Amino acid sequence: MSPLQPARTRSPGRVILVGAGPGSPDLITLRGVEALRCADVVLYDYLANPLLLEHCRADAERICLGRHGSERVWDQDRINRALVEEASRGRIVVRLKGGDPSIFGCAAQELAALIGAEIPFEVVPGVTAASAAAADAGIPITHREHASAVAFVTGREDRGKSTSSLDYAALAQFPGTLLLYMGTTTVESWSTALIAAGKPAETPVAIVRRASHPDAEVITTTLAEVAQVVRTPRPIRPPVIFVIGPVAALSERLVAPCRTEPEEAGSASSRSLIGRTVWVTRPEEQARDLIDSLRQLGARVLARPAIRCVPAPVGDTATRLLDEPCRFDWVVFNSANGVLAWFAGLERSGRDARWFATAKIATVGRGTAEALRRFGLIADLVPDRFDAERLAETLIEAEHGSLGGSRRALLIRGEQGRATLRERLSAAGWTVDESIAYRTEAVAEFGPDIVAPLDAGRIDWTTVTSPSIASSIAHLGVERLSRTRLVAISPLTAEALERHGLPVAAIASEASDEGLIAAMLDATARDAIADDASLDDRAPDGSAAGAPSTQR
Ligand code: SAH
Repeated sequence: MSPLQPARTRSPGRVILVGAGPGSPDLITLRGVEALRCADVVLYDYLANPLLLEHCRADAERICLGRHGSERVWDQDRINRALVEEASRGRIVVRLKGGDPSIFGCAAQELAALIGAEIPFEVVPGVTAASAAAADAGIPITHREHASAVAFVTGREDRGKSTSSLDYAALAQFPGTLLLYMGTTTVESWSTALIAAGKPAETPVAIVRRASHPDAEVITTTLAEVAQVVRTPRPIRPPVIFVIGPVAALSERLVAPCRTEPEEAGSASSRSLIGRTVWVTRPEEQARDLIDSLRQLGARVLARPAIRCVPAPVGDTATRLLDEPCRFDWVVFNSANGVLAWFAGLERSGRDARWFATAKIATVGRGTAEALRRFGLIADLVPDRFDAERLAETLIEAEHGSLGGSRRALLIRGEQGRATLRERLSAAGWTVDESIAYRTEAVAEFGPDIVAPLDAGRIDWTTVTSPSIASSIAHLGVERLSRTRLVAISPLTAEALERHGLPVAAIASEASDEGLIAAMLDATARDAIADDASLDDRAPDGSAAGAPSTQR
């Protein structure tokens, strides 16, 4: 290119095939996330987790290629045409696929169309369902003593083909693990064909359904019985991977709770959440620390906010206050949301933390103080107990006997907040201004990512960190929420849950992330002691002492 030619401000259109999943939205490569961030348009199919679309720019177009069972799924020609058309318009097109694009992902057809149209492309690998299934089931698919090879096999037979496309004789002799995709509807035919071709009927088979989803299921059986297990007592529906071979018998699911010795229960070393699934309901931007701490303790975290924080409408008192110099003795934040919203307001009005001038700052709890610290400010006052009453008392005590008597305070809070603080301070003669910096909106509907594992009883703990979150999750219904354990961050939040008829399993003794986690760990340790006590009631053969033993 001649140096005099103007530089292109935009790259030409191209297509990026991105693999992700197959279930959890965390199983995507950094390169995949980068591709989603720069996409103008994303074409995604039903196997890709829709939560991945959160990485996209707000103005990116999202095209769903149909969902199984509910709408027509696009055929391959239509997908190929759309990829070519969108990229020809100069757009960056991401084709988001569940698992790895190159493994039963129709990558070849799509790439052929792109090559034909001379459209540049890139393939970003993903985690294929077989390796996700192996991880979930705890199956080492190439265990050195049992399998030195693996084969990815499709169980789907081409419609209209009279003879099978699979060479069962070769597969039966294959010296390693068979990983069978798309084999649920054809389970009878491939299992009998493998046995007829000489594969031992007692070969272990692991059926792994919805790998890497929180409600993943693993059932271990044999080649002779796999078809019956899939059909009865209740049919097992796709997506399923079948792991066929001796390694399938080694299935060790990590999801079984880590048992704690009773004498150790409560000691620091025994406190873990290994194998527990915890739903974090807080908006994600404020949930990072909680998520990190839970992951460090071994929990699987489902980060799906139950509320959204929206800044208060412009024209609110906040805008006026931000335009004037701060005239308050105290600025009080009642939540990290308020801190974020206030600083966003400062930024909008072209100001920074110097706006606070000599005002002192109080926060209701440590989490809020921590949010403030991120903006370079240290709270002057954080009460030892985290509620509005205690905050009011502490503020009044702190100013007791100060010159000039009554003080001026600005309370920055959410729309749903209570009036306690204002009332207490006013009663003590303070002049109080309030600014509603944000409001919270309930999430209207929870997706299958939450509903399915809740129904299956796979969410061990649900963290409830504010009364508005309590109201939002209440839409899921008492029956469903009785299958998880609700841990409340404060008595106030516990009351909100109880008002909705929801059972509270634990309440944090300190309204902070640490308090919340301690409450979960204490309850888990108590369970371990209870479990061991119930085992003590058993006779040496495992039957309950005193009870008649039943023959199965
Ligand atoms: N490209 C994908 C495979 C697509 S074919 C990949 O690399 O994983 C679709 C098949 O993948 C399904 O029929 C099922 O066999 C398997 N599959 C997809 N998601 C799965 C999941 N979460 N758990 C188990 N199997 C899954």
